[in-house]
Amino acid sequence: MLTVTDCGDVFCVSDGLHEDLNRVKKKPPTQPVESGGRPDQIVAIDSWYRHLQRNQSIIVDTCQGQLKSRVVCPKCKRESITFDPFMFLSVPLPEASDTIQPVTFLAAAPGSAPKNYNVKCSKLGGSSIRCLRYCCDVMEC
Ligand SMILES: [Zn+2]
Repeated sequence: MLTVTDCGDVFCVSDGLHEDLNRVKKKPPTQPVESGGRPDQIVAIDSWYRHLQRNQSIIVDTCQGQLKSRVVCPKCKRESITFDPFMFLSVPLPEASDTIQPVTFLAAAPGSAPKNYNVKCSKLGGSSIRCLRYCCDVMEC
């Protein structure tokens, strides 16, 4: 299982590998690329070639990409669009919105046998006795 700590370790190993395998031995100073109103495709290519001036390895070739970020100043409305290199993307895993909870129903009437049900409960809340009754009607095991 991959944990957050493991991801950090993977990042350190990949970053270290990249630096060891970097074919650029003397890194020239570079400036961040601003869009200046140019089309995204042009800015992205410009940014990538700027990145490649300092970073060229099999890690870059196979594991890196670009993320577009757009920031607008709330005061003057100036827009800044940049394309930054990334090696890892964190993506949320979809969660099931419902869980199935096994329930054993024991009637108060003497002599009645216990019955098992699977009750579908919303993770967002809203499960209630009414829901339980409905679920018991339709989901008897
Ligand atoms: Zn501003």
